[in-house]
Amino acid sequence: MRTKRTLAVLAVCVAALAGCGKEGSPPTKGPRADQLPVYRIAADFRLPASGTWKKAKSRGHLVVGAKEDQPYMGEKDPATGRYSGFDIEIAKMMSAALGFDPKGIEFKTIASANRETALQNGQIDYYVGTYTINDNRKKLVGFGGPYYLAGQGLLVRADEEDIDGPEDLDGRRVCSAAGSTPYQRIEADYPKADLVAYDTYSICVDNLLTYQVDAVTTDDTILSGYAAKLPDEMKVVGKPFSKEPYGIGVPRSDDALRLAIDDALERHEKNGDWQKAYDATLGLSGRRAAPAPPIDRYPAS
Ligand code: GLU
Repeated sequence: MRTKRTLAVLAVCVAALAGCGKEGSPPTKGPRADQLPVYRIAADFRLPASGTWKKAKSRGHLVVGAKEDQPYMGEKDPATGRYSGFDIEIAKMMSAALGFDPKGIEFKTIASANRETALQNGQIDYYVGTYTINDNRKKLVGFGGPYYLAGQGLLVRADEEDIDGPEDLDGRRVCSAAGSTPYQRIEADYPKADLVAYDTYSICVDNLLTYQVDAVTTDDTILSGYAAKLPDEMKVVGKPFSKEPYGIGVPRSDDALRLAIDDALERHEKNGDWQKAYDATLGLSGRRAAPAPPIDRYPAS
């Protein structure tokens, strides 16, 4: 009985998370291309002080790291290969401000645990994917922003009644992504939880739906995206229990790029693009836009 139900749920889940549907139709409640803002490409922009920018200029396009399985934030359509979501819009805004046509961006999916290495190795020019700014990471990479403030939350099955906050996780199986701040927080502050890690949150969600784990923990932005896709199967519970300011990851030594990104974010927040991008992506999951936090132009070290 349970196996049958599980399989049915899984089939729905895989379809929903993959964002599939009829060919050419947008994923259910997913970002709609016709509602997305068009960003003005800065025609004469030059940033010779940035090694990353110069390399991209000679290559002819930007290479941007992102997530591909986070509904409304960073999601890749398996049929078209196209990326969409709020983080993707932020990446496009930055591209236009740096003088590159956003249509030319080459997106690369990079998991939470591999972001710093990807930036250090020059595999990507910048990274936009629910990436929390913190002091540990600042030793390895630079951060433009923040451009959004999320908070850690919990996703459980719709019929779960005993989990309402992280203090209820004792002896329960909880899943998060390796290398993420939510994983580290449960490990440090809630050691009685039975914590497991996978590369991505979508694997955690599959494990939740098949009763392998009892909760998934990460940022509320990501969790409400999954819950919005399968509202009968899953729910976000409790209040956010951390602050996760999202930054745009850049190579650590490239202060010129970091500060150009800070300027561009501020401009796009003022001119309404940020809000329009939010409304056409993450806003569709039912989340109200928290106002963008102030940009932190920290000094070069
Ligand atoms: N914002 C958290 C982090 O940067 C969790 C989301 C993620 O893994 O991307 O670790």
